[in-house]
Amino acid sequence: MIRLSKSSLDSREKDAVCRILDSEFLGMGKEVGHFESDLKNFFQREVVCVASGTAALHLALQALDIKRGDEVLIQSLTYVASFQAIAATGATPVPCDVNPSTLCINLSDAKKKLSNRTRAIMPIHYAGKPQQMSEIMKFAKDNGLRIIEDSAHAFGSYYKGKKVGSFGDITCFSFDGIKNITSGEGGCVVSNDEAIIQKVKDARLLGVQGDSENRVKRSRSWQFDVAALGWRYHMSDIMAAIGRVQLQKHDTFSEIRKRASQQYTQHLKEIDGIYPIFKNFTDWTPHIYPVKISEHLDRETFRKKLLEMGVETGFHYLPNHLHSYFQKLYPTALPNTEQIACQLVSLPLHVDLNDDDLKYVCDCIREILP
Ligand SMILES: *Cc1c(COP(=O)(O)O)cnc(C)c1O
Repeated sequence: MIRLSKSSLDSREKDAVCRILDSEFLGMGKEVGHFESDLKNFFQREVVCVASGTAALHLALQALDIKRGDEVLIQSLTYVASFQAIAATGATPVPCDVNPSTLCINLSDAKKKLSNRTRAIMPIHYAGKPQQMSEIMKFAKDNGLRIIEDSAHAFGSYYKGKKVGSFGDITCFSFDGIKNITSGEGGCVVSNDEAIIQKVKDARLLGVQGDSENRVKRSRSWQFDVAALGWRYHMSDIMAAIGRVQLQKHDTFSEIRKRASQQYTQHLKEIDGIYPIFKNFTDWTPHIYPVKISEHLDRETFRKKLLEMGVETGFHYLPNHLHSYFQKLYPTALPNTEQIACQLVSLPLHVDLNDDDLKYVCDCIREILP
């Protein structure tokens, strides 16, 4: 079976985990502190590690004091995690349309959905490609909004020569098992806003003030104040140990993902009825490889036939504005999203695919197309 996505691990991650197990200290301790320093080096900005990408988004929103009655603009075409993180604060996710060719938020639709409740915009770097950050930053500035980048797909990507996370307002990453690098589960918040960083640090450990600083020294606070709402959203040393090894492999992983995507694009060029969304991978790390299939094809049949041939594919994503929970919060129709979403199929993409695998996937597609 050629899997849609998977983690890529070897003895180095296993040794790192065993080292933590041998220490018999499994919670948040020195290893998390080391992972945060490694990431700070990578981004040249402050980083707070947390339990998941969803937790990172939730904590970032909470640190901005976004709450019930507030609205956050977001493209409907994203993982449900982005929507739930907004809903978790009590705020309303306001679903916006995408530009069909880039799969990025359509700013003219976003503009129409501005209200006096709008507090922030959450751009998604779909597939890992940041495409219009200058425009989004201008839009946010003009309308007094904060920006929380959902960069779950975009670890290691660049925008106009700058690494995602090294510029902008607040950037959130995911390290779940299938992301560009993993720490098992996990995520992080990156920002140059010290107040935000401090709030996220406290809120990840139940709001216990200063506990983050103590725990990475393997100590903890016995006298403290709790001044804000908090959660158990910290990262464990086991996760950090995996993440640190993966970070060292990132450059290699990134090259493999770029090369695989380039090869798909090359192979698929000659096939009618299937159209790659992205063709150039020089300055960004592709997390998924989405293609648009002809509207005359039934997507579910296409997926099942490939699965029978041993090729797993996926749909990124079911538009969130069509889910009953979010429909109740903010009913809207999004023509571009609804049209493109049912034609999108993601092909297998992970770092253990070889040239023969990629060719096999494309041969299967060629065979099942009419
Ligand atoms: C993976 C992902 C998240 C959530 O990250 P988790 O670590 O799984 O909680 C959020 N947004 C997008 C677009 C994602 O792909």
